[in-house]
Amino acid sequence: TPREPLADAGLAGLRSDIAGEAHVPGDPGYDEARTVFNSMIDRRPAVVVQCAARADVVRGLRFAREHGLEVAVRGGGHSVSGMSLSEGGLVIDLRRMNAVTVDPENRTARVGGGAVMGDLDRATQPYALATTGGRVSTTGVGGFTLGGGSGWLERRFGLACDNLLAAELVTADGGTVRAAADENPDLFWALHGGGGNFGVATSLTLRLHELPVLTMMLLLFRPEDGPLAVRTYRDLMESAPDEAGGGCLYLTGPPEEFVPEHQVGRLICAVLVTYTGPEAEARDVAAPLLALDREAEFITEIPYAHLQCMLDDPPGQRNYWSAEYLDSFPDEAVGAFCSTAHAMPVPSGSQHVLFPLGGRVGRESGGFPVPWRSSPWAVHPFGIWGTAAEDEQGKAWVREVRAAVRPWAGGAVYLNFIGREGQERVVAGFGEENYERLAAVKARYDPGNVFHLNHNVKPSVA
Ligand code: FAD
Repeated sequence: TPREPLADAGLAGLRSDIAGEAHVPGDPGYDEARTVFNSMIDRRPAVVVQCAARADVVRGLRFAREHGLEVAVRGGGHSVSGMSLSEGGLVIDLRRMNAVTVDPENRTARVGGGAVMGDLDRATQPYALATTGGRVSTTGVGGFTLGGGSGWLERRFGLACDNLLAAELVTADGGTVRAAADENPDLFWALHGGGGNFGVATSLTLRLHELPVLTMMLLLFRPEDGPLAVRTYRDLMESAPDEAGGGCLYLTGPPEEFVPEHQVGRLICAVLVTYTGPEAEARDVAAPLLALDREAEFITEIPYAHLQCMLDDPPGQRNYWSAEYLDSFPDEAVGAFCSTAHAMPVPSGSQHVLFPLGGRVGRESGGFPVPWRSSPWAVHPFGIWGTAAEDEQGKAWVREVRAAVRPWAGGAVYLNFIGREGQERVVAGFGEENYERLAAVKARYDPGNVFHLNHNVKPSVA
């Protein structure tokens, strides 16, 4: 086992130098330290450095360098392909660095590199401030924002990366670098979608927005009424104000109070309208949907931080997802989306999701390496199930969805929504020209590609 060689090789020195902890195989905390959201991932790092401060990150990276260990960086641990763990390598685990400081006057939040969405939302909610976050509370703000960041509020406030004002990074050689619009602008640009390729973000500064009231409308339909509901939602969103967001999803009816008993445990179609305003306005905007026959509804004004927890899944499930970003979504595409719902494993935690983009996401380009932002619709089959015996059926369903909607797919894809699908998809995720520019930034900040457990940008060769 790697325990002895590492112990010989100065593990005690590492441990005495850091404010956090270092776990190696056999330690009581080791298994928790190597567990990520996706239970399909079972990797055994040689050492997990649970960093409590930036100096720990620097020290951890030095230890990896000295001992030739592959480096993984872990924030929320939500990467579906387990990119935050290295088999036999060293993990820079940022979870303890999760402090959030809100500056209500300037409407900014400074967020530790290992904070999750819930840490951020809980800190901003008391001020009625918010910024675009992921759609669950347990996703890491770091991996999410650096990869682009798509959430309920994006049509109104832009992608998460559009709200990134500054970042502090520890680079591969242990240096510290700050990136902002007026400081290392090339690096700052690269952090708007380029993910963890350039260093370990120990803190991010985000722009906040006033969000005094938010309405959610969850309408449940029988699966056979799904196509009509989805078409109605599509037509509505194509001219809706930026305040409106949400999506359509097929899922297994959860045992919630508002779900009729006959729909629990069965395939259901749900249309969610989120509206960054009061319920009366939301009802006006959603009138065509509210005119449809439906099985149930749950309509309420709700604090944003609560909405953010509503889709939280228990960890310990097997996850396999992908996505396609569509250039158009005609009736035929709606048909393809809806019919593939019937092959989704049910009951399971899987969700067959359609998200609208548009609004500020589409308008605000910033020139960032997130070309998928101009697509009007995204289809995101989110395969989640309990046992290895279900793997083949679940994966086959995800692939079937991709194939069914591909005729309308533009090619660019949001990389945070996919696992390892080959370098061609990575280049498509950034766009070719952006990829070249990212590769030049990579060559400057991480020429040895130390940070390669990510949707990897290879450093360009001079
Ligand atoms: P990790 O696995 O810890 O990290 C992912 C990648 O980012 C790794 O390469 C890691 O090295 C790097 N990284 C993480 N933190 C840092 C840091 N501080 N500095 C440098 N590199 C870092 N995405 C959306 O956009 N919208 C959603 O609504 C959404 N919903 C999701 C729901 C669930 C249940 C899950 C599991 C994921 C969801 N995602 C969503 C995808 C999510 O954005 C990506 O998986 C993202 O990479 C997760 O970041 P993390 O820090 O949690 O993950």
